[in-house]
Amino acid sequence: MPLALYDTWSRTLRPFTPLRPDHVGLYCCGPTVYDHAHIGNLRTYVFEDVLRRALALNGYTVRHVVNITDVGHLVSDADDGEDKMEKGSRRTGESAWAIAERYTAAFQRDWRALNLLEPTLWCRATDHIAEQIDFIADLERNGYTYRTADGIYFDTAKQDDYGYLARLAVTGLQAGKRVAVGDKQRATDFALWKFSAPGSTRQMEWASPWGVGFPGWHIECSAMSAKYLGPWFDIHCGGEDHIAVHHSNEIAQTQARHGTRLANFWLHGHFLMLDAGKMAKSGGDFVRLQTLIDRGVDPLAYRYLCLSAHYRSSLRFNMEALDAAQAALDRLRRAYRQWPEGGAPDAGAVARFNAEVDQDLNLPRALAVLWEVVRSDLPTSTRRATVDCFDSVLGLRLADWREDVATIPASITLLAMQRDEARAAKEWSEADRLREQLRAEGWQVEDSANGQVLRPLD
Ligand code: AMP
Ligand code: ZN
Repeated sequence: MPLALYDTWSRTLRPFTPLRPDHVGLYCCGPTVYDHAHIGNLRTYVFEDVLRRALALNGYTVRHVVNITDVGHLVSDADDGEDKMEKGSRRTGESAWAIAERYTAAFQRDWRALNLLEPTLWCRATDHIAEQIDFIADLERNGYTYRTADGIYFDTAKQDDYGYLARLAVTGLQAGKRVAVGDKQRATDFALWKFSAPGSTRQMEWASPWGVGFPGWHIECSAMSAKYLGPWFDIHCGGEDHIAVHHSNEIAQTQARHGTRLANFWLHGHFLMLDAGKMAKSGGDFVRLQTLIDRGVDPLAYRYLCLSAHYRSSLRFNMEALDAAQAALDRLRRAYRQWPEGGAPDAGAVARFNAEVDQDLNLPRALAVLWEVVRSDLPTSTRRATVDCFDSVLGLRLADWREDVATIPASITLLAMQRDEARAAKEWSEADRLREQLRAEGWQVEDSANGQVLRPLD
């Protein structure tokens, strides 16, 4: 059975075939770096990491591109309100650029803590302003834009199938009636370029053929994915919230410029929910990975929790579910540790596991195969070799686990992470102060190519 993936565009499970033999282009919408990522965001990246590992399992070489939204994402997705970065700057008193740096570093630290494979390429919106301006200029030349007092907008009325990805009934959304649309002609139209407010200077603004300002949020992903993967590539991913607006708009822009719907497959991860509702950055009520680490939770236990639910069903988060995931991971690690090396994988078990992965990444069922192997009477060295195969998809780093790693107190890990953040923000005296504090607590921190290493002082 070949790999089959659920494609939001066709609303079907489709056998996956790459557009170019053996190679897969994968674009994943990345974080808006005005605040920390919450564990809901991270659930989406865990799903995308599993997808990437499943593609590798099927023998494909994956070119994986992830963007960093460091400008242009407005507080409201409807093109009004403040830019999230500039708002973050007002909140903290730091410059918008410093905030972007700091939260990018924090995000990439969460990324590594969850053992997500490093993307082939990270790309920042602010490093690709010229590409975005070129894109908008082509849209203008092709007759898809109009100008208002506050920016250049995409005219969604020019496309009969606008919003097909979300099956939007566009007629119900037209401007002029009950929907507040400002200067836009209709509610679905969206900003390509926003002007800086007259008489004021933004921290992040650029000259353009239309006036000084900044790009709208959607254009960065169309411009950067086309640049690095071409305007027709294999798979585009994101969370389910992106279907109706962000991805519909990426497709509209790309249709208008290149005549493609950008990606052959569109995959969407469902939300992590709190008992009170969905977890959202703007709500202020969100859980960070670091919050869990401070409570003594291993980040890989959160990864395990994500694997235990199918990516296309919502996952309700609470501490009981997380504790259960941690207990399962601990049980797995303790069993694995006792198994000797040198065996060969059990081909039947590997085939059953891979078949579940290939069926639209059915990780809950793949985990069931894992536990059958753990509890089986296969020779222990066979179990180890088999579980090693599974771990290339699960990413739980079973072979690397050492019990003593978990004995660094959470308060020490926190200090070390704060030092890392201070260094990323080039706040050297704060970094030195934290190093001294760690020393006073009996820990030495060393900087290596792979990040910081903590050792107890002799
Ligand atoms: P943002 O940083 O808000 O641009 O979002 C980064 C990624 O997280 C996007 O792919 C979103 O779709 C996804 N996302 C946002 N909220 C959640 C949530 N509660 N659960 C899962 N994914 C989410
Ligand atoms: Zn995007």
